[in-house]
Amino acid sequence: SLKGKTAIVTGSNSGIGLGVAHELARAGADVVLNSFTDREEDHKLAEDLGKEHGVTARYVKADLSKPDEARNLVTSVGVCDILVNNAGIQHVAPIQDFPTEKWDAIIAIMLSAAFHTTAEALPLMRKAGWGRVVNIASAHGLTASPYKVAYISAKHGLVGMTKTVALETAKEPITANAICPGYVKTPLVESQIPDTAKEYNMTEEEAIEKVILDRQPSKEFATVEQLGGTAVFLCSDAAAQITGTTISVDGGWTAL
Ligand code: NAD
Repeated sequence: SLKGKTAIVTGSNSGIGLGVAHELARAGADVVLNSFTDREEDHKLAEDLGKEHGVTARYVKADLSKPDEARNLVTSVGVCDILVNNAGIQHVAPIQDFPTEKWDAIIAIMLSAAFHTTAEALPLMRKAGWGRVVNIASAHGLTASPYKVAYISAKHGLVGMTKTVALETAKEPITANAICPGYVKTPLVESQIPDTAKEYNMTEEEAIEKVILDRQPSKEFATVEQLGGTAVFLCSDAAAQITGTTISVDGGWTAL
């Protein structure tokens, strides 16, 4: 059980982050939800999650494109046994047309933010004598596809950061690992369907089967519950010697 542990999950008012937060809470952890907005519905999401699982849950606004806000997310909570770096965005364009501001935003939110949160969380984990860093990377942290240069660069970077953190904490009861999902049906993926259909001159249905799930041999999307379950496993005692590695949840994508 993760009772008594506090988990900070970045980018968790939607999609995989919210799914991971639910599974960690189901396993007993108190959770901190986060995104860059500060709406009533964000706080309500945390309230409902806490009630559902009988844990303490709250929502903390932080725009992770800003280094100070990424660091403040962790320092303002003041305790962090489990850090899940999950926040992410996507932009699809050939490199010669890829907007510099999109490159900068993707690297900031998906790579630099994980550096800042991890730097602030490790001293708190050391103080507590236990810690888990779970980075939500991607099959695109291990392999590439065209037109996603910033995303793929950020995810490969995040896998490298995971290995470095694992080595720096190897002698301590702290682990750092990356989960590499294939395609998971979330708002992020749904927003890519029209772009992909346009790019390949297909209907959206064809784009799902022939392009998006083209490289996912199972031909099924992974679920946010499955990703949450993988995160819970990485937080368990069974995973205490699993560090500095990646776990693919990709229906066979990276086996191809
Ligand atoms: P999503 O759009 O549902 O969730 C992204 C989350 O990040 C949201 O909560 C959003 O508010 C938050 N976010 C975005 N910009 C932020 C910022 N500046 N500051 C704070 N939070 C911010 O997408 P998702 O599919 O759940 O993606 C979650 C993670 O999983 C991402 O890192 C993504 O790259 C990764 N991933 C997703 C898939 C997939 O198929 N959906 C596959 C592999 C990896």
